[in-house]
Amino acid sequence: MDRYIFEEEHEMFRDAARSFYKNEVLPHGERWREQGIVDREAFLKAGEQGMLLMWADEEYGGAGVSDFRYEQILIEEIAKHGDPGFFMTLHSRLVGPYIGELGTDAQKARWLPKCISGEHVLAVAITEPGAGSDVSGIRTKAEDKGDHFLLNGSKTFISNGILADIVVVVARTSSSSHGLSLFVLERGMEGFERGKNLKKMGMKSQDTAELFFNNVKVPKENLLGELNRGFYQLMHFLAEERLLGACQYLANAEAAFDATMEYTQERKAFGQTIADFQNTRFKLADMRTEMDVAQTFVDRCVLDHNDGKLAAEDAAKAKLFCSELEARVTDNCVQLHGGNGYMDEYPVSRMYTNARISRIYAGSSEIMREIIARSIGLDPRKKAKSDKAA
Ligand SMILES: Cc1cc2nc3c(=O)[nH]c(=O)nc-3n(C[C@H](O)[C@H](O)[C@H](O)COP(=O)(O)OP(=O)(O)OC[C@H]3O[C@@H](n4cnc5c(N)ncnc54)[C@H](O)[C@@H]3O)c2cc1C
Repeated sequence: MDRYIFEEEHEMFRDAARSFYKNEVLPHGERWREQGIVDREAFLKAGEQGMLLMWADEEYGGAGVSDFRYEQILIEEIAKHGDPGFFMTLHSRLVGPYIGELGTDAQKARWLPKCISGEHVLAVAITEPGAGSDVSGIRTKAEDKGDHFLLNGSKTFISNGILADIVVVVARTSSSSHGLSLFVLERGMEGFERGKNLKKMGMKSQDTAELFFNNVKVPKENLLGELNRGFYQLMHFLAEERLLGACQYLANAEAAFDATMEYTQERKAFGQTIADFQNTRFKLADMRTEMDVAQTFVDRCVLDHNDGKLAAEDAAKAKLFCSELEARVTDNCVQLHGGNGYMDEYPVSRMYTNARISRIYAGSSEIMREIIARSIGLDPRKKAKSDKAA
């Protein structure tokens, strides 16, 4: 189905992104998978091409382009021609904006230029061994010691955790359940340690790590945004995070679909191609239909987001639907590949394992359903309050 949201300059950018991935990312994918981490140089190369933090002001070295469609294009092209473990988007559009929107001029001048050039890699650390979906369970603590905060605690499952030079860390600064604040931790700070690169089911080239904070003296200048407003600041960025996810999961589904179209038209059984079986044609027709319908919704969300009016529940619907769709599509695609689909050398097998995380991180499917249910007036907490008042 034709898409109507892109202009000529977007298509030119798409060509540039595609050739960047084909030349600078794809050739390294196998090695990155084996080493469990992408080369730092990949960030530097992306920086040279002006593809990192494109939204940042020119005074910091950015392009001043906040149009989300450019990031959408980067996401779509990396799924087809790059390596999904290269988390450029997490760096650029998920973590960078914390500094871009919450940072003071001095903080932006200090941190943004090297993030834009790719010299510094970004990560965000929210999750802890005892707190994932429920951020009110965060135990990492930052105590005000006058001229600095003293940070103690640990984080887990942090993407870019090994590579990151700058980590936005969420820590408790008051005992109220929402008493959280954001801090910028920098590589080399005393007491800031990294655990091992965690072994995962998929996303093999992506480094995911534990982080430890043992009496880290965090200077006051590294508090990001207002003290004790961390919970609300996190919520502010979640709609965009979920839209980024939706774009990515749908693009991953498209990549699996393309690989399966090709495979099923070549592979033969019982004197015909796999694609000739009615079951295959119907499965592919169903997948094509669902992906087109999803794309229309996602594109609409992208335009709404550009206009500053993307509702949190619509971002949640996009994330929920696209991650569940990616799971169905990649599962069907493995099935249509037969035994080859289970073999690591076939991209579809990796797409299947990579996809398993999409329904868990960036807010699980269950949390997305909670948000959507509340948006249609089904909120047991509100009901309990009104029952009590009555
Ligand atoms: C590969 C990978 C990369 C990650 N990257 C990052 C990162 O960069 N930074 C970061 O901070 N975190 C990151 N995470 C952590 C991720 O965001 C969490 O795993 C996710 O939020 C779920 O939290 P949890 O694992 O603690 O699961 P839990 O919160 O323990 O959830 C367990 C199950 O219970 C369900 N559940 C929880 N609450 C409810 C509810 N209210 N109603 C119904 N069901 C519920 C969940 O949906 C899930 O099915 C990453 C995780 C992985 C695996």
